[in-house]
Order: sequence, then structure tokens, then C-alpha cells
Amino acid sequence: MEVQLVRARRDSHRGKKQIRRSGTHSQRAPEKPRSCIVIGAGLAGLSAAYRLKTRGWNVTVLEALQKVGGRVFSYKFEQAPKLTCELGAEWIGVQHKAIRRLCDELGLKLQRHRYSFAFWNGGKPPSRFFKPGAWCFSRKVGRNFKAFKKLFVNYDAAQIRDLDQFDWWSVLRSLGFTNEELRNRDLMDSTDFGETIRLTSAYGAAAEYSEGTDTDAMDYKIRGGNNQLPYALAGELDPDALYLSAKVRAIHQTSAGVKVFVNGRKRPFRAEFCICSVPAQCLLKIKWKPALPEEQAAAAQQLQYSRIMKTAVLFNRRFWPHYKRSGFSAFTTRISDFCFDSTYGQRGSKGILCSYSIGDKADDLSSEPSKANIKEWIRGDMMKVTRTKETQSKKPKGKKSQGKQSEIVAIDVRPQAWQKVPWIGGAYAFYRPGQWFTVRPILQRAHGRVLFAGEHLADLQGFMEGAVNTGEAAADQL
Ligand SMILES: Cc1cc2nc3c(=O)[nH]c(=O)nc-3n(C[C@H](O)[C@H](O)[C@H](O)COP(=O)(O)OP(=O)(O)OC[C@H]3O[C@@H](n4cnc5c(N)ncnc54)[C@H](O)[C@@H]3O)c2cc1C
Repeated sequence: MEVQLVRARRDSHRGKKQIRRSGTHSQRAPEKPRSCIVIGAGLAGLSAAYRLKTRGWNVTVLEALQKVGGRVFSYKFEQAPKLTCELGAEWIGVQHKAIRRLCDELGLKLQRHRYSFAFWNGGKPPSRFFKPGAWCFSRKVGRNFKAFKKLFVNYDAAQIRDLDQFDWWSVLRSLGFTNEELRNRDLMDSTDFGETIRLTSAYGAAAEYSEGTDTDAMDYKIRGGNNQLPYALAGELDPDALYLSAKVRAIHQTSAGVKVFVNGRKRPFRAEFCICSVPAQCLLKIKWKPALPEEQAAAAQQLQYSRIMKTAVLFNRRFWPHYKRSGFSAFTTRISDFCFDSTYGQRGSKGILCSYSIGDKADDLSSEPSKANIKEWIRGDMMKVTRTKETQSKKPKGKKSQGKQSEIVAIDVRPQAWQKVPWIGGAYAFYRPGQWFTVRPILQRAHGRVLFAGEHLADLQGFMEGAVNTGEAAADQL
């Protein structure tokens, strides 16, 4: 029996402006519409589909999950429906031009999303919070780091390849970072790569910190949630163009075109071309005819995805510090790892703190069977970091009220361990030393009529911006 696939409804979104199409999008539609199947409704797939659609192509988007957005996942607790937190991609950088262009085109507003930060090793609470983007290590190491960045931007191809053989931790150590500074740097930088900097390519890290801004692309988010962007892109497609719960199991190619087979549906989808935007490891779950070149299958096998668990905890009140122009955040050596105020810039008495656990910590935390424990651990850590004292909710017997504030209650918790999400399997691609110039170019190659897209293939790898860049580039190639 043929299983009914879910055809997605057009998503409307409030406050949408008249859509302005930029010059690059408004080329004349070809006489007979050409056709393309896009696999994956993350930002790479949807931006490819949107671009093709605006150029008059017939586009079909097939997504394995029951929602669009992939690793963009905004969440609301039912006890606080006006507050939004991000369980996937969080920050948009000032330099992320493609995302900002799409937001502008689709009438989406950005809001400020910068964070002050401190370090806490479980002992005395931090005495100092740094401003967003501030240098938080010694002056001496600051001078060395600056000099290294200056040299790096002038590296030739051979020097870059050499650097890619090293890990970031070793390079920082050679620049004079002390053990404590290395630990703090690891706490910070591992949020960018999703694994410890002892395993991260020094080239990848040097490129990120030399070519970006001081705020490390942590500048904005989309008002109402980052998922407004995938919703808006999906809303621009024809009503019957998007299939959710459509798990692609096989791709067959002939000289005439591409046939894509989906679980639970006998008849294949057909088109002239296909853009496949699934994470590298998901390529291996698909049966290819002709088969993927051996080298490409091996590259997909070798590329690891990082382990990140985000845990949003809803509190009855916001007990953490408030700054005028930035939110609260803390890097800790505890299970909470990096923790920040998800509801900074959103009105309300309740608030959400989000823990961002990396690597082994993310695996350990995601193995904890009790959500109540996770909630209390994060609550306990953050009470200590912020020097917040426990208060009693009940009036002590026989005494008058001391006028104390109400008890701080962690109302609910929502964990999301990306390494365990089916059809995605990790937070971002994690290029280890030696892989950037070997594994990535192989994965970027087209296979017959199938082009590839996705965060893992981008120059700005690990970012929404990178995902969109690859989706639009694939559409441009057709
Ligand atoms: C915790 C976390 C924090 C992040 N923080 C940031 C941040 O602050 N800023 C930033 O810019 N980026 C951030 N990112 C990265 C950003 O989310 C990704 O780079 C981007 O969303 C990836 O888009 P994509 O389209 O390449 O992949 P995805 O979003 O993964 O889309 C691929 C889609 O393919 C589907 N799929 C897989 N296999 C099949 C199949 N066989 N058939 C059909 N469909 C299939 C998947 O279900 C998925 O929906 C973060 C990511 C995570 C997880």
C-alpha cells in the first residue's frame, strides 16, 4: 500500500512585506519550465529551491523530517508561549550577507543578540563579566595572537595546507597561552566547532578568527525565531512542491534525468536535475545508481559531525544579570558548559536559560535518563554563577514575611542532542586536521545530474550563511 506522504501546507507568516526580488533573482523564466528535485529542507535546500522557483523552474523538495528548517529549530514552552528559544542555530553575524539579504527580501526583522560573558570553574563565582567581543586573556598573549592573525591573512597556499595539519590547541600553546588560558579558550572556541580544540584543524580556526569580527558572528537573531526564515522560504514554493516525512532511499540517474525514490511511495519523483543537501553521513543511507564514486563515499564516511546538546530551561523569573546592550552568558567547566539567556531582548517575567554542551559533555549529558536531574543541575550551576541565594516560597511559621522574592523554580526543560537526531546526526561537520583540503573538495563534486549543497561544503562552514551560500551556488550552476 502506498503510504501517504505529508504535503506541507504553505506557511504564512505575520508581518510579511511585499517581496522585493533583487536583480540576480529576476532572470526571465525559460519557455518550458525545467525541473529539479531538492533533497533536504534545511537552509541549503530551501534557498536552492527558492532561487530556482523565482527563475521559473519546477521544483520539488523532499524532506525526511516532519518539519522544515533542519538544524534551525526555534522552540516555545507551552507555559510561556510568547518566548522563543533556539534549539539549533542561534546567531547571525554582521557579515552574513546572504541571510540578511533573504531576511530583508522576505520581510523578516533581526534583533540584537550579543552577550557579555564570564568564566566559572565551579569555585568562587566570577567577579568579572567581559563585554561582547572583549579580549579576556593576558596582554602578552594578545599581542602574539594579533601578530599571528596578521601573518595568517598573508599565508600562501602551501603555508595554509601546512597549518591544516595542526590542531588549534597546539598552535595557541605555541603562541604562549597558559594552561588556564588554554582551558578557557577551549571552553569558548569549542562552541564554534562542537568539539574540543585539541581535535580542531588549526587552519579552520585561524580562518574563523582572522577573517571574522571580534564578536565572532554573534550579533543578531531573527525576531520571533530563526525558523521564520525556513518557514518563509518554504512559503514561497508552490503549494504542492514540498513533501515532509519523505525519506529518500534511492537516486537513479539516466541520460534523460533523475529518479528519486522515497520510503513508502512506489512511484519515483522525476526531474532533469537534483540538488542533494543532506549532511555528508546521510549520503551513505541512500542507494545510488550509478553508485557514488568510491572516493566520494569514503570522504562522506570520514567526515565526522560534532556533538552538541542544547538544553533550554524555563524559569519562573529571570534571576541572572541584565545589561543594557548585551545578554548574560557564562562559560563553565561544569555539565552546564556554556550557558546563556535565550530570552535576552524578549519581554516577560519568565525567562529561559540555554545550556550549550559540547563533545564528550554533550554525550554524557544526553545519556542522563532523568530530565529533572538535568534541569536541577543547570539551575544549581547558574544560581552559583550569578551569586543568587535560595529563597523560601513559604512564610516561616510565626514570623512576618521578610519581603523576600519568590523561590526560583525551573518550570520545564527541553533538551536537544543533535548527535542523536535521525537524518541529521550532529551539529556541524567537524573537519579534523588534514581534512579541509582533502575531504571537502571531494564532497563538493557533482555526481552526474546531482549537485551537492549543505553547510559542510561551505567556505563559511558551520553557519546558516554557509548553508545558504552552497544552496544558491548549486542553483546558479544549473
Ligand atoms: C546546536 C547548533 C547550533 C548552531 N549555531 C549556529 C549559529 O549560532 N549560527 C549559525 O549560523 N549556524 C549555527 N548552526 C549551524 C546551522 O544550523 C547549519 O549550518 C545549517 O542550518 C545547516 O543547514 P543545511 O541545510 O546544510 O543542513 P540541515 O539543516 O541539516 O538540512 C538537511 C536536511 O536534510 C534532511 N535529510 C537528510 N537525509 C535525508 C533523506 N535521505 N531524505 C530526505 N531528507 C533528508 C534532514 O532531515 C535535514 O532537514 C548551529 C547548528 C546547531 C545544531
